Formats: sequence, C-alpha cells, structure tokens
Amino acid sequence: MIFHIMTLFPEQFEAFKQTSIIGRAAQSDLIKLNTIQIRDFSLDKHKKVDDAPFGGGAGMVMTVQPLKDALRSIVVEENHLKRVIYLSPRGETLTHDKVIELSTYDELILVCGHYEGVDQRFIDSYVDEELSIGDYVLTGGELAAMVVVDSVSRLVSEVLKNSDSSEEESFAMGLLEYPHYTRPTDYEGKLVPEVLLSGNHAKINDWRLEQALRITKERRPDLYETYIKGDHSKKVREIIKKVL
Ligand code: SAM
Repeated sequence: MIFHIMTLFPEQFEAFKQTSIIGRAAQSDLIKLNTIQIRDFSLDKHKKVDDAPFGGGAGMVMTVQPLKDALRSIVVEENHLKRVIYLSPRGETLTHDKVIELSTYDELILVCGHYEGVDQRFIDSYVDEELSIGDYVLTGGELAAMVVVDSVSRLVSEVLKNSDSSEEESFAMGLLEYPHYTRPTDYEGKLVPEVLLSGNHAKINDWRLEQALRITKERRPDLYETYIKGDHSKKVREIIKKVL
C-alpha cells in the first residue's frame, strides 16, 4: 500500500515513518510513505502557497497552483487503484468501515490543508472525497493524515504480526473489545478474572464475548442494538440472553 502525503510540513512525518509498527511496516516495504512538500511546487518567486480569501474574513487560503502541480508530480503505478482524499472537518467521518474501504486501494493520496483550508476549485477538480477524523478542528491535516495511514496500514496483511489482533479488536466484530489483563495476577489486591487463568479456551472466548457485549451495551448502545439484531449461532444467542 502506498500513501502519498501532500503537506507543507513533511518533517511532522519523520518520527511517524520510523516508529513502532508503522516504522517496521515501512522498513519491510509492506507500506510506503511518500511525503510531498507542496511549497516546492509554488511558481511564486517567494514560494508563497496561500492568499487572502475573496470576500474577506480571517486567515489565509491555500492556492490551487502549488496543490495542483504537487498532485500532478505524483506517479501512480500502472493498474493501481488510487484515491485522492482531502482531510477536512467537512468530510465524512472516518469509521472502521471506511478504513476497510480505504484499505482496498493500492495508493492513497492524502492532501493536508492548513490555515483556513484550500481553494474550493482544487477540491472540485482534483479531490475524490473529503474525510474528517472527528467533529473538532485541527490546525492542519497532518495529524488526520497520520490517523488514516495508521488505521489503514493495520489492515494491510502482515503489518500486524498477529493477524488475529485486528479481527478481534473494537468495531471489527461490531462490538467494543473485552478487557485485557497481564502479569501480575494480583495487583494491589485486584485479581485477574479466574477464567482467564483456567486454560479453557472455549470458556475464555465465551467470557470475552459476554464482557464485550456488556461494555458495548453500556458505552455504545447503537452498536449493541445492531449486533444483537444480527444472525448468530445458538451459543452466541445464549450469551446475548445473559446480557440482555
Ligand atoms: N476553516 C476550516 C473549517 O472551518 O472547516 C478549518 C481549517 S483547519 C484550521 C486547517 C486544516 O486542518 C484543514 O484544511 C484540514 O486539512 C485540517 N483539519 C482540521 N480539522 C480536521 C478534521 N477534523 N479532520 C480532518 N482534517 C482536519
């Protein structure tokens, strides 16, 4: 999977590219992160990339020319499916389902805005979709782009060493995840639930599903209602009954 990130601040991605799971995935060529400095493409003699908004108002707007030329400089491999995404608070909110959809592309081009955002004509002519990471406003699209790269990369096969972990996590099954425990078994009198020490994997799975149902019912009744209405095995229906 190749991510092209158009930004005025490529240096923000340096640590991100080299750290932990994303760093390992990039080193093993499972993913590629290509940052493009938008300013390099400005034809202005002072390398200006923004201007005052027509109609007045606070802040500056990123101009079309450097964005368009930066985008055109990106070489997408033949037969690769690509999508151009502008990170924006006005976009569709990123969800697990959206992350799955994005993971089906071969190359994602992520455009990070700054200041008041980008000239609408760039969006209209070159952007496939706008994507938001939540109902709040960031100073720039860089953190949002990192969220997209991180969440999508986790679904690229082999990025996570234990492939089960993305399948069991919150949202993947339509539920929030069950609680985790590790050593010691007794932490200041708080004990690890007995069943997790039993070695009985069927019982452990049942307990985890029950916990996931209880947590989801309490914190995300919307997800819980959808889950319990779904088609489930007899065993799962019995566990649902305990939680109802
Ligand atoms: N004037 C814009 C508005 O009110 O919608 C906000 C611009 S914001 C200060 C600057 C840039 O940060 C945006 O162009 C966008 O790329 C990015 N950004 C801010 N909030 C975001 C969010 N919730 N999700 C994705 N990108 C965001």
